[in-house]
Amino acid sequence: QDDQFKKVISHAKEYGYVFQSSEIYDGLSAVYDYAQNGAELKKNIRDYWWKAMVQMNENIVGIDAAIFMHPTTWKASGHVDAFNDPLIDNKDSKKRYRADVLIEDYCAKIEAKIDKEVAKAEKRFGDAFNKEEFVTTNPRVLGYQEKINNTLSRMAKSLENEDLADVKALIEELEIADPLTGSKNWTDVKQFNLMFGTKLGASAENAMDLYLRPETAQGIFVNFLNVQKTGRMKIPFGIAQTGKAFRNEIVARQFIFRMREFEQMEMQFFIKPGTQQEWYEHWKETRLKWHLSLGMGEDNYRFHDHEKLAHYADAAADIEFKFPFGFKELEGIHSRTDFDLSQHEKFSGKKLQYFDPEENKSYVPYVLETSIGLDRMFLAVFSNSLQEEALENGTTRTVLKLPSVLAPIKAAVLPLVKKDGLPDVARNIIEDLKWDFNVVYDEKDAVGRRYRRQDANGTPFCITVDHDTLEDNTVTIRHRDSMEQERVKIEDLRDIIKKEVDV
Ligand code: ATP
Repeated sequence: QDDQFKKVISHAKEYGYVFQSSEIYDGLSAVYDYAQNGAELKKNIRDYWWKAMVQMNENIVGIDAAIFMHPTTWKASGHVDAFNDPLIDNKDSKKRYRADVLIEDYCAKIEAKIDKEVAKAEKRFGDAFNKEEFVTTNPRVLGYQEKINNTLSRMAKSLENEDLADVKALIEELEIADPLTGSKNWTDVKQFNLMFGTKLGASAENAMDLYLRPETAQGIFVNFLNVQKTGRMKIPFGIAQTGKAFRNEIVARQFIFRMREFEQMEMQFFIKPGTQQEWYEHWKETRLKWHLSLGMGEDNYRFHDHEKLAHYADAAADIEFKFPFGFKELEGIHSRTDFDLSQHEKFSGKKLQYFDPEENKSYVPYVLETSIGLDRMFLAVFSNSLQEEALENGTTRTVLKLPSVLAPIKAAVLPLVKKDGLPDVARNIIEDLKWDFNVVYDEKDAVGRRYRRQDANGTPFCITVDHDTLEDNTVTIRHRDSMEQERVKIEDLRDIIKKEVDV
């Protein structure tokens, strides 16, 4: 697993997807830059989301609010008081960790033991193996499961009651060690606010303390009435937004899974109070379908219903994805009640109500939120796509099987040789296709090596121009995943590519 994750990180660098920020100065921890291919992949994921959420829904519109917001926003939202992580230091290594993450990782290790038991039993029983039955009856598995449940629910309760001493006690009882040094010499657990502060204004006396937004949601809530009125929106309706958010996360080597500067894709859906259960189910299902539409394997997703709810929520679930380091949160679906709008009413003194013509009365709408990290989605797509395949001839190939709709480059056009006018024909094909797709030209090295380069880069099609092309205007088109090659007319290329890469 660790090896696979290392491969993902080095492939992302080698093929121009993700670089460490300020690398020449040895980088900045948990901050990353998207390179030439990464920026395209990221944009394609954002567009795929935007299309599904905004373009395809008559009652959802998109906005782009500023990163800076009036500081009272964050008092109203609860972030000033409650946007904290429980941190613990190891006295020997002087390293700082999130106490809840240490405990979750401990549980993940037990979960890995369950997986091992399942795999063992599957091998033993073969076709007769029934996983569902096994995990609900096998005493060892049940014991592990109970340990996980007890641990997580005790942690949830202690955090909810701000009983940080008990969080520390739990870490000690479980004998959790510093993952780097093995030391079990821990300090007390302390709360740490995750917001980055900055200042607005030139003179020191008049400067106003600001925060970089830790989530995009509040930019939607404070604009709720403006959008509703100017867009003449009727409940139920949604407001979507993508943009940067900032959190001073305490992290250890998780690449772009947990960053200090990241991008969110959020949608707040405004509904009539009392209908939240139904919309909660609706959005859970709709969002899972969106993920499955990319064809990355149903088994790689699961729901995790929250026991411990944030201060604003009356129901919450995560869509978890199987990252190289195990199942982790990819997207959250939260039933936020009227918490945010009511808080902003209170702090601003402005009414944030909707007049419902059917009910003939005004109310503060309830909110259903879907919130996904763009960078985390990038990691899900990228890590899932990176594969090493054993070929029939005994060699292996590295192939990045990105969903075609998301691939940065849709086709590479390759003249078989650098002479006889083949490069000109290839260039002409590019001139024609580039109006619709990102396409590249490559004439360096033998054609087999060029194919491999494009495979590793995730390009779904290679188009090869050879001497026959000069005779009959046909080319060879090679499919990345199957490696199959077909002879097709140049004039049909656009439709062939479109069919595969269009949503
Ligand atoms: P986590 O429990 O992993 O810290 P969260 O529950 O705090 O995440 P939310 O506040 O619900 O996350 O944010 C919604 C989404 O934003 C998450 O599902 C995740 O995909 C993404 N996200 C949150 N924090 C980060 C981060 N530091 N780096 C990258 N993506 C993030």
